Amino acid sequence: MFYLRESGGKLSFPYIPKAMSHHGCYVTSIGKLTRWLGEKCEEEGIDIFCPFSGDQVLYDENNHVIGVRTGDQGIDKNGNHKPNYEPGVDIKAKVTVFGEGTRGSLTKDLIQKFDLMKDKNPQNWAIGVKELWKVPEGRIDAGYVAHTMGHPLGHHIFGGGFIYGMQNDILDLGLVVGLDYKNPEIDPHHELQLLKTHPWIQSLLKDGELMSYGAKSLPEGGLYSLPKLYTNGALIIGDSAGFLNGMRLKGIHLAMKSGMLAAETIIEAFKNNDFTINTLSSFESKFKNSWAYKELYKARNFHQGFDKGLVYGMLNSGLGLFTNGRGFGYIDKLESKHGHKKMEKMSSQPISRYNNLKFDGKITFDKATDVYHSATKHDEDQIPHLHVIDKDICFTKCKEEFGNPCQYFCPASVYEVVNEGDSDRLQINFSNCVHCKTCDIMDPYQVINWKTPQSGDGPAWKNM
Ligand code: SF4
Repeated sequence: MFYLRESGGKLSFPYIPKAMSHHGCYVTSIGKLTRWLGEKCEEEGIDIFCPFSGDQVLYDENNHVIGVRTGDQGIDKNGNHKPNYEPGVDIKAKVTVFGEGTRGSLTKDLIQKFDLMKDKNPQNWAIGVKELWKVPEGRIDAGYVAHTMGHPLGHHIFGGGFIYGMQNDILDLGLVVGLDYKNPEIDPHHELQLLKTHPWIQSLLKDGELMSYGAKSLPEGGLYSLPKLYTNGALIIGDSAGFLNGMRLKGIHLAMKSGMLAAETIIEAFKNNDFTINTLSSFESKFKNSWAYKELYKARNFHQGFDKGLVYGMLNSGLGLFTNGRGFGYIDKLESKHGHKKMEKMSSQPISRYNNLKFDGKITFDKATDVYHSATKHDEDQIPHLHVIDKDICFTKCKEEFGNPCQYFCPASVYEVVNEGDSDRLQINFSNCVHCKTCDIMDPYQVINWKTPQSGDGPAWKNM
């Protein structure tokens, strides 16, 4: 179902285009699916090293990628070795495939080093904030899917809600918020709480119990925001590249297809005994000849249309269904800008709808409670994985110009401005971090660098 929701009611869309209809498809937890796929890979003899994260890309003397170095283990918060210290190991490969999720820290370095976004639209991001609820028996059918627009984001912020009915009376509820909003005080976690104040959602959650919480960034830019997908010794797949169809609200199928095409490319590279761009460039031609390209081509101007608001965006995507994705544009490709550059300085009005938001502990929850339900774990005695490259900016410029928006866009209360008499201090509660990467993306000065923490620390993604 697709609903336009206002604060008191909801209006169902009379027609769901074929491209957005998923009747007959499965609804599943991606956390469970990847664990299951992991088992299948191991049955086939593939090694999976779970508790190690990639820390650095390795290059040879010709700047060809030759693998990845894992992070050191057992370093305390002051940089000293602990008794369990183990240095990172170099994992070398003829071809390294970067599939580390959205805004991958290694992929970010790779894209910058080789200028892989040259002549592309910048990536347009969104954040998805999600809760899992156990609801009374029979409240929701397994397989039920609803997407909504309107309340609470209104008509000027890209995004919308989703509800999935899972087995055993589990209800997944979430909200996607475009990371190209103007008001620096927008708080995606608070928007999700406001979503639950809608009478319809309240009726679904009544007498239910919050089970889990999480957040994730989403690459919404589409076809023209994909980077060049290869360099010497490396390929980029999945969310790391931006394989997501914003119009269909789906990316897993594209991530899988990109992985399969990468595998075919690597087989070819072994046959040719050539791991340079001469062979690896065929990854892009394989993609261009696949259904994945055709699908993304039809949705190529979807997100860009919402730059002019909800109504224009809806009309543009509606027209796109009849113009093979062109929409209102006279030209094939609508341009886009970096989302963080659209944030307005403090002239924006305070967000009055947050004034009446109460965290009642039954339907609505504060960030600390939600983070508790994310089952996030980080060893506190390690070097924080969130690096603010220039902390001076926080209180010389950012406070005045944007009011330190990291306090609001982070869905896990990681960034706290602590007043200490005459001055303010930025406290980074890194152990709360649910790894959504929003800070790395949305910081107006781009001075936050998200790195992988040690030992695979982070959220549990339980049933998410
Ligand atoms: Fe997301 Fe950054 Fe907050 Fe971590 S610190 S939860 S990555 S916004």
